[in-house]
Amino acid sequence: MHHFHYRNGRLHCEDVSLDAIADEVGTPVYVYSSATLRRHARVIGEAFDGMSCLIAYSVKANGNLGVLKTLAAEGCGADVVSGGELKRARAAGIPPSRIVFSGVGKTREEMRLGLEEGIHQFNVESAAEVEVLSDVASLLGKTAKIAVRVNPDVAAGGHPNISTGKAGDKFGVPWEAADALYARIAELDGVEAVGVDVHIGSQIDAIAPMRAAFERVVTLVRRLREAGHAITRLDLGGGLGIPYKPGDDLPPPSEYANMIRQVTEGLGVEVILEPGRVIAGNAGVLIAEALFTKPAPKRTFLIVDAGMNDLMRPALYQAHHDILPLEERPDSTEQINYDVVGPICESTDKFATERPLPVIRPGERLAFMSAGAYGAVLSSQYNARPLVAEVLVDGDKYAIVRRRPTFDEMIALETTPDWLT
Ligand SMILES: *Cc1c(COP(=O)(O)O)cnc(C)c1O
Repeated sequence: MHHFHYRNGRLHCEDVSLDAIADEVGTPVYVYSSATLRRHARVIGEAFDGMSCLIAYSVKANGNLGVLKTLAAEGCGADVVSGGELKRARAAGIPPSRIVFSGVGKTREEMRLGLEEGIHQFNVESAAEVEVLSDVASLLGKTAKIAVRVNPDVAAGGHPNISTGKAGDKFGVPWEAADALYARIAELDGVEAVGVDVHIGSQIDAIAPMRAAFERVVTLVRRLREAGHAITRLDLGGGLGIPYKPGDDLPPPSEYANMIRQVTEGLGVEVILEPGRVIAGNAGVLIAEALFTKPAPKRTFLIVDAGMNDLMRPALYQAHHDILPLEERPDSTEQINYDVVGPICESTDKFATERPLPVIRPGERLAFMSAGAYGAVLSSQYNARPLVAEVLVDGDKYAIVRRRPTFDEMIALETTPDWLT
């Protein structure tokens, strides 16, 4: 469900014409729908109604402050994976009591930041990290509440680059090592084990692998309690997939929630969830302008002004984004197959191969759909292209929530060594 639709023949976000935004802000530009963000946060919240549950939105999916503030107003907490994301979450007004800190490679500085902020929980991913966190917390005279992220050795399905819960993945503590690590935590100062954490991947399109992983983790919770550890929280990560094209069949949040209700029945834990994509993914589009078409043997290239530096998912994981012209065409319009590519000097700078689209004129604008998660956050200035702009829509209003930097700003961090002056 999202709030991008044609009205009077032009694609709109809520009540705002995307042309109006592109006219003012230029392209490429990301546009986010507040109504969609709110709706997704509410649907997930309502699915867990009556359960003790913290929805910690995964900031890495889309960390724009406008997005975070919109979700904070819905009561979302935050799952952060760096000191920078922690600062973003705090800047958006998310209270520390609703922030969890994940990630395999936290620095001492990042641990100190989390401890000083008094965050809800650290999700730790190795025995070595536990030792360092204990040291940092002890020096500060604080105690870190921790959950160990365990690797349940379950295949999540989906693209191998976004699977995180198999034994060969770098994430989590090996299943066989978990009990010993909890025993070690009990001996250490500055750390207190309060939970177990698991996150098996992203864009997961079936409930069964999640159920298998969560059932495994529940057996660990019971075993740890028998060993005397006061486990009161269960962090089940994120990962629920979204439809990227018509016909994609994804389990609804209610089915996911009912499975979690069943699996945690009678366990008496606070459930923590870290949804990212399912909240932000279909709440954003990337608008680009068609520059040229170029016939080539056996194909026609459509060259647009957005590149892989602006939207990296197709290059990074062969991801599919639907492409809609801002100008609506009748269903009967003849289509031709385009290879849709950007201006970057890399062969991987390709958004779609043999994609059927109506004839696109130079100067026409297109929307890359479902680009709200892992879009702008992965953007770069490669080829000295300014970082892509971002706009947030709310009803009939919109605001530029990240402007495009000027060229002077882009080079301002660089200095010329004195031997070159
Ligand atoms: C990426 C990530 C998430 C969010 O994943 P989605 O698929 O966007 O829901 C949650 N938790 C952790 C630890 C992650 O790395």
